[in-house]
Amino acid sequence: MRQGIALVLSAPSGTGKSTLCRMLRREFPDFGYSISCTTRPMRAGEENGREYFFLSRPDFERMRETGEFAEWAQVHGHLYGTPLAPVKSMLESGVNVLFDIDVQGAAQLKTTLPDATFVFILPPDMRELRRRLESRGMDDETSIQLRLQNALAEIREAFWYNSIIVNDTLENAYAELRAVFIAARLAPAHNMKILENILEDAEKFHA
Ligand code: ADP
Ligand code: 5GP
Repeated sequence: MRQGIALVLSAPSGTGKSTLCRMLRREFPDFGYSISCTTRPMRAGEENGREYFFLSRPDFERMRETGEFAEWAQVHGHLYGTPLAPVKSMLESGVNVLFDIDVQGAAQLKTTLPDATFVFILPPDMRELRRRLESRGMDDETSIQLRLQNALAEIREAFWYNSIIVNDTLENAYAELRAVFIAARLAPAHNMKILENILEDAEKFHA
């Protein structure tokens, strides 16, 4: 059986990453979900083990110290982390896992999941990024300025990713993302069992 693909997508906020993730999940509905742990309080309507595993800070820190997170970060004063064991077991059982994650989280996954495929999505240019942030209508001017500044720091990290996709038209960007995913599925690291099986079978055949 094939190992699952860990596909890691990063992009400056407003580039179109959520849109592209949705398109990929629609075409390939069997992507697994990684449920993160967090120390932030549960919101109304949330359920422990569905949106997140809600942990106390000492429990989170214990897990962090014992290396149980594939990556972790502090966001708006709360800790968030991706538990490593469920991700590994999904990948081992052939389930593909999609990570929609920031550059710092992705850099940690590079260490904990070295066979993952890292894709950085770029806006065509900064004027278009601003236009998309404005058109989404979720941020005020201060927040847009902050996101544009953060975008530059993130784009400076794009060099170590496996692929860079420019989200000019959604159609082109999605065709490229799809191609990267399909190519990743063909990599030897994800097909070791198939190689082993055919070699084992060949040995029996010659015996
Ligand atoms: P992100 O998840 O990267 O923050 P979104 O997927 O929310 O970004 O997209 C930001 C906005 O840009 C949304 O209004 C979305 O519909 C729009 N958008 C995404 N991709 C494109 C594209 N290729 N061309 C024009 N608008 C786009
Ligand atoms: P919220 O608390 O609103 O659900 O999420 C706040 C932020 O935390 C979002 O930007 C989200 O992407 C980030 N986040 C959620 N889970 C994780 C995680 O497992 N790791 C990292 N690095 N960030 C996360």
